[in-house]
Amino acid sequence: AKAAGGNQWHWFDPGMDRAADEAARMAAELSQALLRDQIFVLFQPIVDLNTGTAVGAEMLMRWRHPEQGLIPPDVFIPVAERTGTIIELGRWVFEQACLRSADWDRRFGTAAPEKISVNVSARQLADPAFVATVRDILDRTGADPAHLMIEVTETAVLDTGDALTRLDALRALGLRVALDDFGTGHSSLSLLLDLPVDVLKVDKSFVSGEAAEHAGAIVVRNLIGFTDDFGIDAVAEGVETSAQADRLRSAGYRLAQGYLFGRPMPAADFEASFRRATAA
Ligand code: C2E
Ligand code: CA
Ligand code: CA
Ligand code: CA
Repeated sequence: AKAAGGNQWHWFDPGMDRAADEAARMAAELSQALLRDQIFVLFQPIVDLNTGTAVGAEMLMRWRHPEQGLIPPDVFIPVAERTGTIIELGRWVFEQACLRSADWDRRFGTAAPEKISVNVSARQLADPAFVATVRDILDRTGADPAHLMIEVTETAVLDTGDALTRLDALRALGLRVALDDFGTGHSSLSLLLDLPVDVLKVDKSFVSGEAAEHAGAIVVRNLIGFTDDFGIDAVAEGVETSAQADRLRSAGYRLAQGYLFGRPMPAADFEASFRRATAA
């Protein structure tokens, strides 16, 4: 079938048709998922390696499909990106973060982890209304912008025309900006360290992947010196073992995230953990 040109390719390959149908159906269902209450968020702690306490949380989106069960974000976020549904989903997630942050500030004060981190996709960053939407949600929820952080990837920033202006505007609103999945793109270190970001999240492939044993370990060890010099915080992602945590600590890392410290969990479970920590 592959030898056939043009539209015939589809015509002769029912498998392709099915895949295309599936994708179209998922896109249509995803556009209704928010309204149907199928989208929810989990929180994964970001901890201080020296004290073990959570100083923040990353908010991660989930889709509970009525027939297919839990669909991971790696599957549905790209679909939402392609169709534009991510704009609506992203707005909702940011609002959830603001509501949660204001709620924690009110109920727990300084006992609560200070920052909630939210992922922002390339499509959102490219949206001319993005900054106004953020400002509007902050106003409406009364959340303290200093307690919110947005995470953007290097490719999202570098491929989006107005990204730098937008990041500056977000920081002017008082939000912090993190560069996510650091090290997975192809940009030079000096270019990246020059971006208007406050935090650099070192990708898990350097921390717990196969490369973590050799090349990754060197990156991890040396990067911290650069971030210190540039006044940027570093968060090591994907920490799974205490040996990895020890290595990071001795390299000078203060902040980390990973299954070792906690999986993404519902807000109530996360609250229980930091309340327990405060009581102890
Ligand atoms: P990410 O932003 O890099 O998020 C971290 C991912 O690593 C999460 O996967 C998290 O569960 C996983 N993780 C955390 N600790 C460990 C560990 O120790 N080992 C391993 N192997 N994995 C760990 P998750 O929740 O499946 O999310 C996948 C990606 O989907 C995220 O990667 C992010 O790019 C995207 N995503 C999730 N929620 C949102 C959202 O609300 N908006 C947008 N735009 N993207 C989102
Ligand atoms: Ca992230
Ligand atoms: Ca990441
Ligand atoms: Ca990612």
